Amino acid sequence: MTEIQLFNTIAREKTILKPINPKRVTMYVCGPTVYNRAHIGNARPAIVFDTLARLLRHIYGKEHVIYARNITDVDDKINAAAFEAGVDIGVITKKYTEIYHSDMKLLNVIIPDIEPKVTEHMGDIIALVQKLIELGHAYVTDDGVYFHVASMKNYGRLSNRKLEDMRSGARVEIDENKREAADFALWKAAKPNEPFWDAPFGKGRPGWHIECSAMIEKNLGMTIDIHGGGHDLIFPHHENEIAQSECAHGGTHLANIWMHNGFLNFGNEKMSKSLGNVVDIEGLCNKFPRESIRLAMLSAHYRAPLDWNDDLINQSTKTLDRAYRAMESIWRDDVEPKIPQALIDVLADDLNTPQALAVLADLIKDANKASSDSEKADALAALLGAGSILGILQLKPNEWFKSDNDEDTDLKSHIDALVKERTEVRAAKNWARADEIRDELAKLKVIVKDGPEGSVWRFGE
Ligand code: AMP
Ligand code: ZN
Repeated sequence: MTEIQLFNTIAREKTILKPINPKRVTMYVCGPTVYNRAHIGNARPAIVFDTLARLLRHIYGKEHVIYARNITDVDDKINAAAFEAGVDIGVITKKYTEIYHSDMKLLNVIIPDIEPKVTEHMGDIIALVQKLIELGHAYVTDDGVYFHVASMKNYGRLSNRKLEDMRSGARVEIDENKREAADFALWKAAKPNEPFWDAPFGKGRPGWHIECSAMIEKNLGMTIDIHGGGHDLIFPHHENEIAQSECAHGGTHLANIWMHNGFLNFGNEKMSKSLGNVVDIEGLCNKFPRESIRLAMLSAHYRAPLDWNDDLINQSTKTLDRAYRAMESIWRDDVEPKIPQALIDVLADDLNTPQALAVLADLIKDANKASSDSEKADALAALLGAGSILGILQLKPNEWFKSDNDEDTDLKSHIDALVKERTEVRAAKNWARADEIRDELAKLKVIVKDGPEGSVWRFGE
């Protein structure tokens, strides 16, 4: 069996994956907060860990892997969105969970084995908070329950921070409810007009970190094999998950391997909602083939920053053109995918997807050179196998060359043309034509977003 090595944030080096139970390999990744559309930066962890899940399933067997990615459906931002729309939070969370699922489907991200939701784990969360209070790791105040970081001997192990340094660097906090500034909320007391849940320590709702600790314990167990998320989650989110779970479990480690993906950047900045430089997934999928977007995401190593731009996606389209062209010349309907060992080897080395692209280039060469029937069948099987693990080459070559998305191609190219013309007539200050185009796009329920990389469109809600 191929040995997998993964860079482990907590060990600060590559660690060999030794599943606690190879018949039940467990991975948890922090998922979306469903109050708005995910952007293409948010898709990076989804695609990276989907690729890792595919590798784990290949090596350990599909039925022996449990991959969990949660849905955060209780949060201040959800409350704010629900208040603004004048609806219950459930209306907002349902809508954006559905959009998230359809966006992930566009990117060939397989739905994880389980998708635990906060609202479905309130009892587990409350029990965990109660336990931390009873064990002396948490205290109750007027505005909620706080975790007392000084009650844990080695707080800060993951992010390599010392409590002492955090204290000396801390700004003077005005919050007199906390014993000290580094303490964090496990439970927030109910504020007027906000959804709340009853608990022995008062009506309220959970803090952000406790949900993951509770859902991991409930669904996967005390210690999991792999815990993942974006780099920004190392501190405080993952540090606090460790504090809560380890203190509740007598020091038992929460995860053996901690993995963190780097940021997707736009220009020189992290793509993020607060910077206002986000690109929405559906819009991008109308502009580029879906598989090109996925391959572009995998073209950099997952720990490295990734500079997102049209060139990167166009390069990926060229790679896919070459792969599909090679497949077309040797196409047969009766060939089963076979994942090449060379590809498994590079992915098993800390998910080295740039190397995987080099392997893909070799496979394309092999396919173009194949002469006998059996060579052709093997080359096709290898390309299909590589596609099955990278989440690309899922179309038949003729479908790829026809278009990424068959039926509404005509409508889409009509809209593409209108959006392009819109940019041109606006630049030429031809407002009469610009207004006509705006009305026509509105009739077609198309929303156009202008960004630094040009305009993208999607169908409106
Ligand atoms: P958020 O909705 O901000 O909590 O993010 C959800 C997930 O996406 C987290 O794992 C983040 O670390 C990750 N994430 C957010 N922005 C980016 C970005 N620009 N590049 C890569 N990952 C990101
Ligand atoms: Zn989490």
